[in-house]
Amino acid sequence: MPGVDGRVAIVTGAGRGLGRSHALRLAAGGALVVANDLGVRKEGGGANAAAAQDVVAEIRAAGGVAVPDDHDIASETGAKEAVKSALEAFGRLDIVVNNAGILRDATFHKMTVQQWEAVRQVHLDGTAFVTRAAWPHLREQRYGRVVVTSSGAGLFGNFGQANYAAAKLGVVGLMHTLALEGARHGIRVNAVAPVALTRMTVGLLDDASDLDPAWVSAAVGWLCAEECDLTAEIVRVHGRHFSRVRIVESRGVDFPSPPSDDHLAARWAEIADLSGAQEGQAAVATARHAGSG
Ligand code: NAD
Repeated sequence: MPGVDGRVAIVTGAGRGLGRSHALRLAAGGALVVANDLGVRKEGGGANAAAAQDVVAEIRAAGGVAVPDDHDIASETGAKEAVKSALEAFGRLDIVVNNAGILRDATFHKMTVQQWEAVRQVHLDGTAFVTRAAWPHLREQRYGRVVVTSSGAGLFGNFGQANYAAAKLGVVGLMHTLALEGARHGIRVNAVAPVALTRMTVGLLDDASDLDPAWVSAAVGWLCAEECDLTAEIVRVHGRHFSRVRIVESRGVDFPSPPSDDHLAARWAEIADLSGAQEGQAAVATARHAGSG
């Protein structure tokens, strides 16, 4: 079973928490890992190269292969440099695990533009920049596995996390589109939505239950394996509980002419009825772009 054996993987935010666990898991499966981490505080800011170096030491001590990288993936230049680290160290890149993250929680009416931008830059821009720097290489070799990290906050909303939720659903939109664009090139793109005990969630989660990041890393490891042909999936891992999240559309209702408020209200139950719901798709088909893809 090839799994991730011999594949080159970059894991962003690999210095601690979920990223560290993903990096250890991939390395244990034989992947050559670039452990990227800027070593920032939970809310961003500060930088410490030891974060990436420590996990690399841990991987090497366990017999694995890894190199550290401490670029800031929230900047396009940093993201390109992180991908360059993989190419320089190992000559190729097969797997991109977009995991780095920060929090700047505030209720929407108190949220500053800086709080909004800092969170968007790491989660959404960072995911796009790293994947974009890797994309030509994945396309050229006609093989790639990309994982983005969403969140229950992004999928369902969470009080005080408008910036984070917007970015975390943003990566799902990115994932859906990249899954379409990557399909013909052997690139599979999926999302995980984790719940795990890390510094990001300590004090917020019930730490009596087993919320070891290793549960989430199992899903990440599988989604990165050669045998796994899934794409455009959202896998939620809450401790030992694994589930699938989909965005679906109800069968809906046709009106003969633009309905009045009363007509809409009267038929809302039918419109909203999710029995027989199916996965939605963009209203404007993109097949016409496939040839130029
Ligand atoms: P964490 O704070 O333990 O680790 C995040 C890591 O990302 C840190 O080591 C940090 O230095 C690094 N990082 C932050 N900004 C960076 C940047 N610009 N460049 C490079 N590295 C950077 O957090 P975690 O809980 O392990 O979270 C990992 C991911 O999972 C995040 O995207 C987070 O939003 C997501 N997530 C976590 C949970 C959870 O329950 N822990 C739930 C939902 C989503």
